[in-house]
Amino acid sequence: YLIEDPKYSFLKDLGLEKTNVGVFNGKWQANGKVIQSFSPANGKVIAEIQGASSADYESCAKAAEDAWHTWAELPAPARGEIVRQIGDALREKLQPLGQLVSLEMGKILPEAIGEVVEYIHVCDLALGLSRTLPGTMFPSERPGHVLIEKWNPLGAIGIITAFNFPVAVFGWNSAIAMVCGDVSVWKPSETTPLISVAVTKIVESVLVKNNIPAAVASLCVGGKDIGEQLVKDPRMKLVSFTGSTAVGQQVGVEVQKRFGRHLLELGGNNAIIVNSDANLDLLLNAALFACAGTAGQRCTTTRRLLIHKKVYNEVVTKLKKAFSGVVSKIGDPLLSETLIGPLHTPAAVEAYKKTVEEVKKQGGTIEFGGKIIERDGYFVEPTIVSGLPHDSPLVKTECFAPIVYCLEIPDLDTGIKYNNEVEQGLSSSLFTENLADIFKWMGPHGSDCGIVNVNIPTNGAEVGGAFGGEKATGGGRECGSDSWKNYMRRSTVTINYSGTIKLAQNIKFGD
Ligand code: NAD
Repeated sequence: YLIEDPKYSFLKDLGLEKTNVGVFNGKWQANGKVIQSFSPANGKVIAEIQGASSADYESCAKAAEDAWHTWAELPAPARGEIVRQIGDALREKLQPLGQLVSLEMGKILPEAIGEVVEYIHVCDLALGLSRTLPGTMFPSERPGHVLIEKWNPLGAIGIITAFNFPVAVFGWNSAIAMVCGDVSVWKPSETTPLISVAVTKIVESVLVKNNIPAAVASLCVGGKDIGEQLVKDPRMKLVSFTGSTAVGQQVGVEVQKRFGRHLLELGGNNAIIVNSDANLDLLLNAALFACAGTAGQRCTTTRRLLIHKKVYNEVVTKLKKAFSGVVSKIGDPLLSETLIGPLHTPAAVEAYKKTVEEVKKQGGTIEFGGKIIERDGYFVEPTIVSGLPHDSPLVKTECFAPIVYCLEIPDLDTGIKYNNEVEQGLSSSLFTENLADIFKWMGPHGSDCGIVNVNIPTNGAEVGGAFGGEKATGGGRECGSDSWKNYMRRSTVTINYSGTIKLAQNIKFGD
């Protein structure tokens, strides 16, 4: 167990033990099967977590629902103050929590710390929101009447998260939902259970200090079975699901069957268009991180480069050079010299291998990489592919690994057409210096994605805007802008203070 190695003493700083309880319903108690947590950098077991049984899930849902009555009665600014304290508690644990993310998920330490920072940023955002949650008043057509739009919390919500952003995605949902007056049951990825336990302990400490029932933020570590139980549970007024398109589609249908609400953040197939006038220095910097960074395991990783024919050869040649510069920096994500960590699981390595084999079978050229790295852990080479048709099934599929397809385009219109022809619609970027092209790109005939960038990579969003994508990415929006509306229900309230009944539309009924 790595937890016994003094090198990983940060695990103890987070209150983790060799055997941990993965269920929190105000108390830590679990009766489900024991899950081992592995480090993808060496395949060794970090520690164990006892997961949730079906009865444990039930206890979480019930405890969360009970806690809601207290939580919803607090004024929103008071809830905001609690979320502010959670942000501060995260600031205190920034380093060890970042280290844990790096160890258990496999991303490099600066990115792991960055994802905890994202949660802190959302706490800041939510604090402001807690004092500005709007409620509009509309003029009535009837004298002595008024129309008020009143927003109320939904109640309990379910948060199901993916392995690749094991802290931030929970934070985006939890911080905003908390100021909106909701309580949550979190079902994290079964391959990042320690992170969810550590995060929940931090949130618990703040809630307990403030005498708030800690089941406001319940946790249920488990697999697909627990996820399915949550999705079918009518007490979960909203299911916020982050994960693959295939699972998200099932989740969406199940939640719809019971007329629940869903917020889906699913797979992407993100492209950068390189216009003929693009600043190639900017592009290469951005593309290196967007294609190879996080070992290709961001939902916003660039999977396709749509390159104008005038600069195609130059871009591919220079990108290969840039990739060769980072290959020596693949390794232990906790070391400061490392730029690229491992894939998360052996299954991900298998999916990478299959995709590379299929590329070759279909006549594509491996311009760079294409191999599994022989060492402990789950490491692969970042890979550049050319020579496949823009509409080949491989190019249209999200392989969650560092593989980028280079495609030549004759003009921007074709680039936009290729950008939009995949079923996913998460992130997209255009590199150009041309103002008219920028406005075309963001207009009705431009990118059909939820995230439309110019001269920056497809990945690395800020919390102020709404995050999410269209089409098979699920249509959900999280974080900033008006994403809070997902976590509240709206009532239109009409109040008559005139002393007489007057019907709308001037209808006369009766004498
Ligand atoms: P996944 O779909 O395998 O799992 C996601 C979560 O769903 C896990 O917690 C899993 O246990 C749970 N789950 C599995 N089957 C379920 C079921 N039938 N009912 C309910 N829950 C179930 O995804 P993953 O491999 O963890 O994550 C990678 C995927 O997530 C990629 O496709 C990536 O693009 C996507 N992703 C999207 C965003 C976004 O914001 N759009 C962010 C991060 C990741």
